[in-house]
Amino acid sequence: MTASPAGAPTGPAFDILPLAPEVLANLRQLGYERMTPIQAASLPLALAGQDLIAQAKTGSGKTASFGLPLLANLNARRFAVQALVLCPTRELAEQVAQEIRRLARSEENIKVITLCGGAAIRTQITSLEHGAHVIVGTPGRVLDHLSRQTLALDALNTLVLDEADRMLDMGFADDMAAVIGHCPKQRQTLLFSATFPDDVAKLAGRYLREPKQVKLTEQHAAATIRQRFYEVAEDQRLHAVGLLLNHYRPVSTLAFCNTKQQCRDLVAVLRAQGLSALELHGDLEQRDRDQVLVQFANRSCSVLVATDVAARGLDIAQLEAVINVDISPEPEVHVHRIGRTGRAGEAGWAFSLASLDEMGRVGRIDELQGRESEWHALSELVPTSAEPLHPPMATLQILGGRKEKIRAGDVLGALTKDHGFTATQIGKIDINDFSTYVAVERGIAKDALRKLNAGKVKGKTVKARAL
Ligand code: AMP
Repeated sequence: MTASPAGAPTGPAFDILPLAPEVLANLRQLGYERMTPIQAASLPLALAGQDLIAQAKTGSGKTASFGLPLLANLNARRFAVQALVLCPTRELAEQVAQEIRRLARSEENIKVITLCGGAAIRTQITSLEHGAHVIVGTPGRVLDHLSRQTLALDALNTLVLDEADRMLDMGFADDMAAVIGHCPKQRQTLLFSATFPDDVAKLAGRYLREPKQVKLTEQHAAATIRQRFYEVAEDQRLHAVGLLLNHYRPVSTLAFCNTKQQCRDLVAVLRAQGLSALELHGDLEQRDRDQVLVQFANRSCSVLVATDVAARGLDIAQLEAVINVDISPEPEVHVHRIGRTGRAGEAGWAFSLASLDEMGRVGRIDELQGRESEWHALSELVPTSAEPLHPPMATLQILGGRKEKIRAGDVLGALTKDHGFTATQIGKIDINDFSTYVAVERGIAKDALRKLNAGKVKGKTVKARAL
């Protein structure tokens, strides 16, 4: 689930920025010719040493917006931690660390270490003993190292709070405060957040110095996202989602509800109609969240149902449709929701279900988008196939992953060489520490499962189950 900004960025060229020639050369090598909107808005300020509150989501190019300034503040010859990036999740921390390493390639030997919960603390301590310039980590684990004195932040000059809203949602407020307490007062602080609820404003007020605010109103190319509104009575709303799916038959749909209860109700209604739907909610354990996302991203689940909070940070490359099951009270959130589809020049659908009570909200959305919404009647939504909508793939879970040294090639090899399937019948293979998830064409799922359980992967018998 990696992202690149939709289309090539069209902002100003990087060479207008006060960056060293070798940094500019490296950016060119990375294919960064022009700035994305968030980079154009934040880099001049951040490189001038300003504290920033910036609104940006994954895929906007936000990592370079703080990565380049933190590297500019850094003295590579000084072997001490000079920058800290706090992130809500391990996934994001790994992604951010990787991007900072790429941006740092022009300097010799800049060491970037990730410190996240869930990984062995001993290994982290050993890496820290060897020294590092940049730490990227989750608040709990970073604090743990500070308490053990295996990490010191006395030489720090840049602090980044990435996805600040999500860190607060996940209950990291106290840990963040404690970590910031270990940072020198004299520093540059950059706060990035997809949304700006009151608690993020409070956080900024407490820890940033005369911050400049960088806020971008998103606008999407009307050509790539086709929006349709349907008027519904309250008792038609959930049923209408099934009508949309069986009419337009999108392979992957993200459905947004305003409340968790609505998400649960919708999943129940869709399943009762024989559709494959999963709920992504904020209370899921990281492992369960990973599992839901794997199934959705590998196309073995048709609909992912989520609230805005739960879908934060989520970035899925191929999304044929977004459905606004409820209209968001905030027009910016609506625009943010529909921006998930129609990526990279591919056409996407955005459907919105609105009751009479929600017409005021639709009016504000029209105003923000600068165009009138296009209305269609529910009666147009007739099934376009006799078959209910099924996802093209199914997910098989093999109990055993990185810890067992299973690699994608081993699984693909077992299925193609030993069991006679063709490579085109096998989809994405995701491997985490303890499990391997393999997507296979729905029609061969039973057979593939039986053969995996009867045969071997990498010379060992394995246990597999269908999700
Ligand atoms: P991010 O939002 O930081 O996760 O970035 C999304 C992706 O866009 C990453 O793969 C970056 O390497 C890439 N990217 C960021 N900025 C630019 C740029 N100015 N030009 C081209 N690619 C970029």
